[in-house]
Amino acid sequence: MLWLKACPRCQGDLLLQADTYGSYIACIQCGHTLQPEQEKRLALSLRELPRKRPVTATKVA
Ligand SMILES: [Zn+2]
Repeated sequence: MLWLKACPRCQGDLLLQADTYGSYIACIQCGHTLQPEQEKRLALSLRELPRKRPVTATKVA
């Protein structure tokens, strides 16, 4: 996964990477690695993207 211009340090592009210790998010440009707290915030911002209305909201007349 890739987050464009989302690096808190240099506004570079963040890339989801993985090694033997697990997955982490790091900046391609400056190598800055996100703290777990920052990763959580990033995931949250993804979830807040506009989406279609839930289909369960339809009226039953
Ligand atoms: Zn950066």
